[in-house]
Amino acid sequence: MLDRYIRDVPDFPKPGILFKDITPLLQSPEGLRATIDAMVEAVDPSSYDLVCGIESRGFIFGTALADRLNKGFVPIRKPGKLPWKTASESYELEYGTDTIEIHVDAVDGARRVLMVDDLLATGGTMEAGLKLVRRIGGEPVACCFVIELGFLDGRSRLGDVPIHSLMSF
Ligand code: AMP
Repeated sequence: MLDRYIRDVPDFPKPGILFKDITPLLQSPEGLRATIDAMVEAVDPSSYDLVCGIESRGFIFGTALADRLNKGFVPIRKPGKLPWKTASESYELEYGTDTIEIHVDAVDGARRVLMVDDLLATGGTMEAGLKLVRRIGGEPVACCFVIELGFLDGRSRLGDVPIHSLMSF
């Protein structure tokens, strides 16, 4: 039912990529509410204390979920954006590498973390996110994605953390 809100944009941001555009889903009151409802259902809210979202579309869903459940939110950001002491992790892209960062005290006092991003593709981003959260003392209890591109088998890189996707293509 949610898939009708996803717009396929061919050759964005470069030739050969079929971009899954979530903005129609965000624009729809019913679509946005149903997405957060489904995230609440996907992982038992009593199993985690904090929601961690990955820049930048992970922030949209992660923050909405955290607010709905009266939990805190932790951002994982691109390099140079976080002002305090950070831990960072680099990962391979098709061409070159990328890096993400987290504040070293981001999970203090609340260890169990639900990881959120909009889309699971190759899994490199979330694999690095899991490493970061563990390195600062957090325990990722599950990963939740709005969309999974199953043919890329990103979940095989995420170890034994339970993976929940609201839609699979
Ligand atoms: P990956 O590290 O390969 O799993 O890529 C995941 C990140 O890249 C997510 O944060 C997505 O927002 C973005 N992404 C990768 N592929 C696509 C796609 N086909 N459509 C939209 N976003 C994508």
